[in-house]
Amino acid sequence: MTKQLTHYVGGAHREGASGRYADVYNPSTGQVQAQVPLASADEVREVIANAAKAQAGWAETNPQKRARVLHRFVDLVNENADELAELLSLEHGKTIADAHGDIQRGLDVVEFATAAPHLLKGEYSDAVGTGIDVYSMRQPLGVVAGITPFNFPAMIPLWKAGPAIAAGNAFVLKPSERDPSVPLRLAELWTEAGLPDGIFNVVNGDKEAVDTLLDDPRIKAVGFVGSTPIAQSIYEHAARTGKRAQCFGGAKNHLIIMPDADLDQAADALLGAAFGSAGERCMAISVAVPVGQQTADTLVSKLQERIGGLKVGHSLDPQADFGPVVAKSALERIEGYIAAGEKEGASLLVDGRGVKVEGYEGGYFVGATLFDHVTPEMSIYREEIFGPVLTVVRAETFEEALALPSNHEFGNGVAIYTRDGDTAREFARRVEVGMVGVNVPIPVPIAYYTFGGWKASGFGDLNQHGPDAFRFYTKTKTVTSRWPSGIKEGASFVMPTGN
Ligand code: NAD
Repeated sequence: MTKQLTHYVGGAHREGASGRYADVYNPSTGQVQAQVPLASADEVREVIANAAKAQAGWAETNPQKRARVLHRFVDLVNENADELAELLSLEHGKTIADAHGDIQRGLDVVEFATAAPHLLKGEYSDAVGTGIDVYSMRQPLGVVAGITPFNFPAMIPLWKAGPAIAAGNAFVLKPSERDPSVPLRLAELWTEAGLPDGIFNVVNGDKEAVDTLLDDPRIKAVGFVGSTPIAQSIYEHAARTGKRAQCFGGAKNHLIIMPDADLDQAADALLGAAFGSAGERCMAISVAVPVGQQTADTLVSKLQERIGGLKVGHSLDPQADFGPVVAKSALERIEGYIAAGEKEGASLLVDGRGVKVEGYEGGYFVGATLFDHVTPEMSIYREEIFGPVLTVVRAETFEEALALPSNHEFGNGVAIYTRDGDTAREFARRVEVGMVGVNVPIPVPIAYYTFGGWKASGFGDLNQHGPDAFRFYTKTKTVTSRWPSGIKEGASFVMPTGN
């Protein structure tokens, strides 16, 4: 019998009651391995009610005690990391080593959030007027929601839940329906760590669940990560219902290779950044921009040679460089883009379509694919493919290369490979993209800086993790107080000023 997954509400598993389910696949085999319940609006409202009830007590727990729960949670995740990585790999399709990275980058942010006692400190100004002091404090919002994508089922839920919970909120997670088992297991570990029931909840579902979260006035903030059209529609919906929202979307990340770069290093970097996790990372590099024909010819031949040595396999195969893509629909979308690129006139140098992995003929495998002579009008350049497809757009000059990511609809990540400090500095300052790497192909900022793309890659004012996360999950209150010590001024009818 197919395994039936649950929701996680008030510190315990809860069976789905809507009668609606989605299949959860093992993308390495193409077989259904579980079913996840899709919550009805009533079920979602019950989760919110439960969370709201628990939140008041949690907000009253002092920040250091809250941080201790986070410390215990980090320890428990580390103790269970192998089991979590396997669970993750079997539903997502990324390799075990890569799944460990997914978990670790999530834990980094929970560790950062243990600094809540410091990060939640307000400001204080003494004697701004006679007997008058001003101070500010950060207070939790209440119940907040996270809606997360399939491609980092541990990392992104933890990026949101860690700071939200540390700041004294209750958190309702609506994870991707494609790989919900890791979030459910994390929920168990939160409970085991001593988090009060109702503070971390998982509600599985689709548009109905999401719309209910967005419509409910008890949800005060929504953190979303996923594709751009959904990010934008959730941002608009949240604005209509008066919620704070940060919604991160798709990407098309460029890596510029200057003529003075170490081309072996650049080729190796491109290989990992374009094909790691089968290209299903929002910070994956999907466009290489060599500057100058000589650079392009050499780089392309190095890439072609290296791609020949890559191994696609079952996600649990330790020899595999990357596994399958997440779903049959993803496989079809990626193969559709490869066909479109050929039709649009790009040179298809390595074609990853039709790859078969022996013993796993039903798996959703696409091999590494390389296009040369791609131009900005082509759909394979303009749109996010989200698969192991690297496109090469040749540029003649630095200015031409700089303009490509700057003018692209998306602005998540970008990188430059060069040995020249001046060029790197100029590029980092002028490029219209949110996260920049200098000789670093996937510049995902560490936990104590913030993560967020520009343009169609991010809607909202504040970024994820780092200090912004605490700004997002708290509201500021400013108190002006006066202890007059016998001063008698009488009634005043003019606007108070510092004069
Ligand atoms: P997705 O947009 O299909 O789904 C994301 C979440 O939204 C899921 O929980 C899903 O159930 C929900 N959802 C889907 N359709 C919905 C609808 N019509 N109404 C309400 N909710 C809906 O994205 P995905 O395929 O899971 O993830 C891949 C995408 O996420 C890529 O575009 C990738 O670039 C992006 N991503 C961005 C970042 C970032 O930080 N910018 C990070 C990771 C992934």
